[in-house]
Amino acid sequence: MSKTIVVIGAGPAGLACAHRLLERGDFKVILIEKASFVGGLGGSFNWKEHILDFGPHAFHTKGGEPESLVRNLFKDDPENLIMGRKKVSVYLRSKFYKYPLQVGEVFRKFNPLLSIRILVEFIFTSIVHALVAIPIENFEIWGNKRFGRKLYRLGFGDYTEKVWKTKTSDISAKFAPAKIQGFSFIHFVKKLFKIGGEVTEPYFQTWLYPKMGSAELYRRLASKIEEKGGSIILDAEISYISHNNGKAECVEYTRNGEKVSIKTDYVISTIHLGHLGNLLVPEPPFIASHHFQKLKYISLIVVYLELNIDKVSDMHWFYLLDKSFQFNRVAEQKNLCKDTFKSNKTVLSMELTCRHGDELWNMGDEELINMAKEDITKIPIIDAGLVSGAIVKRFPNAYELYYKNFDKHADISLAYVNSIEGLFSVGRRGLFLQGDQYQSVEMGLEIGNILLQKDITDISANEYYKKYVRYVDEI
Ligand SMILES: Cc1cc2nc3c(=O)[nH]c(=O)nc-3n(C[C@H](O)[C@H](O)[C@H](O)COP(=O)(O)OP(=O)(O)OC[C@H]3O[C@@H](n4cnc5c(N)ncnc54)[C@H](O)[C@@H]3O)c2cc1C
Repeated sequence: MSKTIVVIGAGPAGLACAHRLLERGDFKVILIEKASFVGGLGGSFNWKEHILDFGPHAFHTKGGEPESLVRNLFKDDPENLIMGRKKVSVYLRSKFYKYPLQVGEVFRKFNPLLSIRILVEFIFTSIVHALVAIPIENFEIWGNKRFGRKLYRLGFGDYTEKVWKTKTSDISAKFAPAKIQGFSFIHFVKKLFKIGGEVTEPYFQTWLYPKMGSAELYRRLASKIEEKGGSIILDAEISYISHNNGKAECVEYTRNGEKVSIKTDYVISTIHLGHLGNLLVPEPPFIASHHFQKLKYISLIVVYLELNIDKVSDMHWFYLLDKSFQFNRVAEQKNLCKDTFKSNKTVLSMELTCRHGDELWNMGDEELINMAKEDITKIPIIDAGLVSGAIVKRFPNAYELYYKNFDKHADISLAYVNSIEGLFSVGRRGLFLQGDQYQSVEMGLEIGNILLQKDITDISANEYYKKYVRYVDEI
């Protein structure tokens, strides 16, 4: 008889895993999703005549299986999958700069005294670090060493504190390699003095995007899963995952007030690692529970402002680096794909982070919309008078917070999950990562491949975890 596999979460990772299991194996696959739609954070919604993502979601391209999977979903109508290059900027001290930063532009636009100060501080810090072994204990020390104090503060420090609502001295240095890519100040300085240096582009500069919004990709993947006999149960929240004698045994979910339990051979969880700990029955021993509880998240509020204008700029995203802005990032989805808009209007998605349940989280929609309008009045290219509508969406625990020692908490939590045979925690949420959709799809496909191996009980998840859970060894 074919084995039963319950996949929790129909986001990119869960859908990719279910797809791989059904495409190549003979399993009974049941996907359980608490939302009323598939795609997780990669989903979209309709508002007025627009299709909006939860923050525009471009599927980054770097070849390999995840990209082929996406392209294959559109093999009969390739015209509905568009490609592009990212246009990202930062807005700093009333000026826009291309991101990654370009040496010529920075020194042309920065005040000369500031440029000199940045260079002097960088040289001084480099000498200090060469002479004295200063342990890189947190993100602030990492940033000061890498960029010098002023540039670090202007370009990364203030913004990081604004987004993560945490002092950078309390953020792990391991946050840096996970988040800051494609910008090396030493290469930047070498370029300035024309002694070499390259500006390496992050791989996520090129992307694919469905004309019907990001969710279309996941709707198509879900249809394939159902065609192959998989079940997708929406609006269903997991109440517990039980294990017996060290082996995963049963998953119970609640739907429309009714409890349903499924006896299962394997459970693939793609939900927040910290939350998974709360769902296990019997509950983890005190030490393990403590580490699950210590995993912290930051929540996201997106205010969508509709403007009565064809478009505001050519940029896909721009970051509001100055502390004077409440919001972190502004995206204009129309520049990724104009087909998601049926009128001559555009929508700016404005992202604001907070802690779940704090003052910002509990603020009313009108107040948040006014805050967003206040921020745009400080940006000369946007005319706040053109706002013709607004809607607010809230996403609890959208980002994993790399607070100091987070790696120990995640490592021990994962070790506990791994001690339960047949239970795997995967995906961005499941492994406490900072990754993108590409990586979550890849992780979903790979865990599917592992389960396809003949003697599943003997496989160790070690190689898998070693590949993705890099924060345990890095730095
Ligand atoms: C604002 C923003 C913009 C982004 N932009 C991009 C971008 O442009 N490109 C890109 O590649 N990536 C982007 N990302 C990252 C991308 O969203 C994630 O990498 C991706 O969604 C992770 O997929 P996942 O399947 O691991 O997790 P998720 O997408 O979070 O999916 C997890 C699923 O589990 C479900 N779930 C949770 N708890 C339960 C429960 N108890 N019971 C049942 N179901 C449950 C959730 O509802 C969700 O559907 C962005 C993220 C954000 C927040």
